[in-house]
Amino acid sequence: MLRARMILGIGVLWLTGFSIGAGAQQTAAREAASFQDHVANAKLLAANDLTGRNLSDCTMPPVSAAPTTKPVDAPPTKVFDQLYYLGTDIVASWAYVTSAGIIQIDSLDNPEEAQRIIIGGYKKLGLDPAQMKYLVLTHGHDDHYGGAKYLQDTYHPRLLMGKPDWDMVGRLHDSRPGFGPPPARDTDITDGYKLTLGDTTITFYLTPGHTPGTVSFLLPVTDKGRPHLLSFWGGSALPRTLEPGAFEARATDMGLLIYMQSLERFIKLGEDGGADGFIANHPYRDQTFLNSKDDKISKNAMRKQGDPSPWIGRSTYIRYMMIALECNEAQIGWIQAGKPKISQ
Ligand SMILES: [Zn+2]
Repeated sequence: MLRARMILGIGVLWLTGFSIGAGAQQTAAREAASFQDHVANAKLLAANDLTGRNLSDCTMPPVSAAPTTKPVDAPPTKVFDQLYYLGTDIVASWAYVTSAGIIQIDSLDNPEEAQRIIIGGYKKLGLDPAQMKYLVLTHGHDDHYGGAKYLQDTYHPRLLMGKPDWDMVGRLHDSRPGFGPPPARDTDITDGYKLTLGDTTITFYLTPGHTPGTVSFLLPVTDKGRPHLLSFWGGSALPRTLEPGAFEARATDMGLLIYMQSLERFIKLGEDGGADGFIANHPYRDQTFLNSKDDKISKNAMRKQGDPSPWIGRSTYIRYMMIALECNEAQIGWIQAGKPKISQ
């Protein structure tokens, strides 16, 4: 449980007051008693820039981080030399342009959004929808696959999703109002699966937790020619139980303990790869678009020559992942402590 912290903890030790040696010796009982310490750690890590929805996973009981207001379209935006944001303030999709075509990541809620926001966005940004060679679905929830069948039928990209999530989608095969139908089953992503298109290879990792087959990956990008590596954690909202169970009636999560293992592993992979930024499949997580002046799209629009990209910052990336880890541990501890009522 503490492996990732031992790797990253050194960098944030000054901030949080972690004691690694003592932490490693903690008993399960002490872990349970200290869930509020994890909440406190997360708040410290959030400082004054990763607050708000980033901390919603540290609420007991957990609350949804998603806005409940009517979705607002984000302006289609070029974020890096080869990466584009196409989404709303609730759910994200991304277009990644290689030398041999486009890898589209996620497909929004339904065909109408896919057509209006993704394809409409491509056209505004000068991207050719016929160049969409692959559509990667980060996990099998309908706010990510809802537009996929439309894109599949219209532009014929190959579809990739984690194998267990294809199985899950096939089992659920229903549609909520406002969400599109599942796409026809195509390619399975297995752990370590490599997708090469033109000059780019992306390695995908199965990170079960939010769903059984959630996919996460590290995305190489350049900012005005300078290379960076973005971490993309494919599942955000935390399970509500320790063991595999039902986060919501229509989907199956893998529980907090497996989520935690996946998160620790992916933090380590990001550390080994040298990740220095992050994006997400919900814009309130990575603050890409909050429909306000404080989001990254707004900051990017005001960026001056020589300013760093708002999406890049190694310490911010580390704090972001550590907040997720702390809130995950806090939820585990809260459940182990018998879900006491706490004032927040
Ligand atoms: Zn989901």
